[in-house]
Amino acid sequence: LNARAAEPYVRLYDHAADPHRPERLSLMGDLKIAIEQDALELAYQPKLEPRTGRVVGAEALVRWTHPRRGFVPPDSFIPLAEETGAIRHLTRWGLRRALRQSAAWAAAGHDLRMSVNLSVRDLGDASLPDRIDALLAETGLKADRLMLEITESAIMGEPEAAIVLLRRLADRGVELSIDDFGVGQSSFAYLRRLPVREIKIDRSFVKALDETAQDQAIVHSIIKLGHSLGYKVTAEGVENGASLNLLAEMGCDLAQGYYIARPLMPGAFADFLASHAAGGIPWQATLREAH
Ligand code: C2E
Ligand code: MG
Ligand code: MG
Ligand code: MG
Repeated sequence: LNARAAEPYVRLYDHAADPHRPERLSLMGDLKIAIEQDALELAYQPKLEPRTGRVVGAEALVRWTHPRRGFVPPDSFIPLAEETGAIRHLTRWGLRRALRQSAAWAAAGHDLRMSVNLSVRDLGDASLPDRIDALLAETGLKADRLMLEITESAIMGEPEAAIVLLRRLADRGVELSIDDFGVGQSSFAYLRRLPVREIKIDRSFVKALDETAQDQAIVHSIIKLGHSLGYKVTAEGVENGASLNLLAEMGCDLAQGYYIARPLMPGAFADFLASHAAGGIPWQATLREAH
C-alpha cells in the first residue's frame, strides 16, 4: 500500500541544507505570535452517515491567514510546528477552540462529535489528559463527544508513548481515530494494543473510487477488516456522488469530502446544517435515488 501514497508521509527537513531557513524561522516566529494572539481559525468539515444522510460529526482543521503571505496551508506549517515544538501550543489552542464550538452547537440543539487532529509530538505531552479533562469540565461536554485523530505513522514513530497516552485518554471516554489509514506503515501488533474506535481510509483510495476497480477492492477490504476488528470506518476525500453511493453500498459508516461539504467556517457550517435540515443539499437527492 505504501507505493500508493500520493504525498510523502514524513517530511524530513534538513536545517543545514535548507536555503530558505531564515524564511522558515520567521514563519515559525509568526505562527507563535498568531497562536498567542488567537489569530488562527478552525474550519469544520462535516462527517456524514452515507446510509441515513445524517450529519453526525465534524473535523476541526486549522486555518492560518498570514498578515503578509495570505493563506498558508496546514501541510506547510504543521510539519515546521512539529519540529520546533510549537505544535503543542497549537494543539492546546485547537482543542479549546473546537470544544467551545462543539458546546455552542450542542446549545443550539446539534449533537455532533468533534474530531481534532493530534501530531506525533503531542504523544509526548503528558499534561494533555488533564487539559482535556479541564476543557470537558469547562464546556460540559461528555468525553465521548471528542474524537482524536492520529495517523498510523505518528503512532509508529513513538509506539510505546502513544499507547500510554492514548490509553489514558481512552480511559476517560475520549475516542480514538486512526487517520490516513492505508498509507502508513501500519502495525497491527500496535494497533491491537490501542483502544481504536474508528479508522479513516486515506483519501488517495477514495478520490477516484467510482472509476477505479482496484481502489474499490482496497476500500471494500478496509471496510470489512475494520468492521471485523470492531472499528467504525470513515472514508475521507469523497469527491462525487457515485463514490458516495458506492461507499453506502459497501457499508462504510461515515464519509467526508468536498462532494458533501468543504471545511467550513462556523457561520457557513451553521448555514450548512440549516439547509441540510431543510433537505436542500444536492447529495441528499443522490442518496434518495440510490435506495
Ligand atoms: P487530515 O487530517 O487527513 O485532513 C483532511 C484533509 O483533506 C484536509 O486538508 C481537508 O481539507 C482535505 N479534504 C477534505 N475533503 C477533501 C476532498 O474531497 N478532496 C481533497 N482533495 N481534499 C479534501 P487540510 O485542512 O489542508 O489539512 C491537511 C492536513 O493538515 C490534515 O490532514 C492534518 O494532517 C493536518 N492538520 C490540519 N489541521 C490540523 C490541526 O489543527 N492540528 C494538526 N495536528 N494537524 C492538522
Ligand atoms: Mg484528520
Ligand atoms: Mg486524513
Ligand atoms: Mg492527511
